[in-house]
Amino acid sequence: MQTLSSIPASSTAAAASASPPPSDCSLLFAINPRVAALKPSKTMALTDKARELKEAGKDVIGLAAGEPDFDTPAAIVAAGVEALQQGLTRYTPNAGTPALRAAIADKLRRENGLAGASAADVVVSNGAKQAIWQALLATCAEGDEVVIPAPFWVSYPEMARMAGADPVIVRSTAAEGFLMSAESLERALTPRSRLLILCSPSNPSGAVYPRERLLEIAAVVSRHPRLLVLSDEIYEYICYPPAEHVAFGSLPGMEARTLTVNGFSKAFAMTGWRLGYLAAPRPLSSACSVIQSQSTSGASSIAQHAAVAALTKLGGERGGEPVAGMVAAFLERRDYVCARLRAIPGVSLPSTPDGAFYALPDVSSLVGEGAVGVSGGFGPVADGDALCAYLLQEALVALVPGEAFGAPECVRLSYAASMETLKEALDRIESALSEGRYQRPPKK
Ligand code: PMP
Repeated sequence: MQTLSSIPASSTAAAASASPPPSDCSLLFAINPRVAALKPSKTMALTDKARELKEAGKDVIGLAAGEPDFDTPAAIVAAGVEALQQGLTRYTPNAGTPALRAAIADKLRRENGLAGASAADVVVSNGAKQAIWQALLATCAEGDEVVIPAPFWVSYPEMARMAGADPVIVRSTAAEGFLMSAESLERALTPRSRLLILCSPSNPSGAVYPRERLLEIAAVVSRHPRLLVLSDEIYEYICYPPAEHVAFGSLPGMEARTLTVNGFSKAFAMTGWRLGYLAAPRPLSSACSVIQSQSTSGASSIAQHAAVAALTKLGGERGGEPVAGMVAAFLERRDYVCARLRAIPGVSLPSTPDGAFYALPDVSSLVGEGAVGVSGGFGPVADGDALCAYLLQEALVALVPGEAFGAPECVRLSYAASMETLKEALDRIESALSEGRYQRPPKK
């Protein structure tokens, strides 16, 4: 096949100057095959769809997005305003302001037990998403394998593919509490394994890895000389006792193998400020920093100034009172949502999520051959995708099909919404799935 690069420069220049559009647009609009193979983010697509319906006047309740419904705490906002008033409106150093990198390193040492964390190992980025993408690009070569426990955050496999690596998915079920066992990790590893991505508390399951399980995983990791761990700890603060967040890098021998990713979006309700970070052994963090210097450069000066306040001015550890207040609200909602979901026939939620703000119920008894959305003449409901489409149409509630997270038997509900909204959403879901409006498949 002829590609743009195989055409002599003179003929592409001539083609560009000729005004009629070429008859064969496939040449002109050919997309990089790595990009053409990407799946767009389903959570974003669903959020957009729900927003569209809302704009068309429909009373849609969106429980698809991964975003706290709270405003950023006042002290952080005040620091953002202060940044503007003080004229902190210029480029910052590529890897972040010295003040923020120092505050992050201090937090990692104090709260997470990463004894060796220093400001020089921290790279501040435009959201944790960018930090993860840079980590994959920096560590994975063509053909390397990235081990991803399922259910996973939608972007990990796609980012791995974009970096030229091959995602290797390790499944775990609702009955296993959505926690990968050390044995299944061991079975998935090959000499090509380069990076294991852990996310605890987890998006989408809310599962929190207990220390014991992490120690077992660390023992497996330590036997593989070129295996690194990317530990995505963005939901760290949203963890419900007695569950406890453990930083993977704090486990014996693991700091030298771990790229710790965290951010401000979830902990401090700062999604729109776009600020996250990575801390890793110097050769790895330096490589991430180089990628950033040749792509986006430093993060927003204003957001960085505000983030220093988030880490130092809220009083107490772990975001002090403002964060504790949000976490208490999430906990109340979790309990309510789990009880309501469990009361719906056909919905199964064997373990209660210990963190984040998602529930990932198993809905496999509600879909498949014989399942029909009667209400609104919807028709057959073959899988979780169809169930979400049915609930959007008939209950006007947006959820995300589990297929997007490697858990096709589930759907994800975000409970980052007010109790009033959650009550209304669950009333509607329950009604749309009730006898007369929904026909469940015969028992398998
Ligand atoms: N990791 C996980 C598990 C997430 O859920 C998200 C946001 N949905 C991110 C990373 C990225 O967060 P941000 O870019 O807003 O910091």
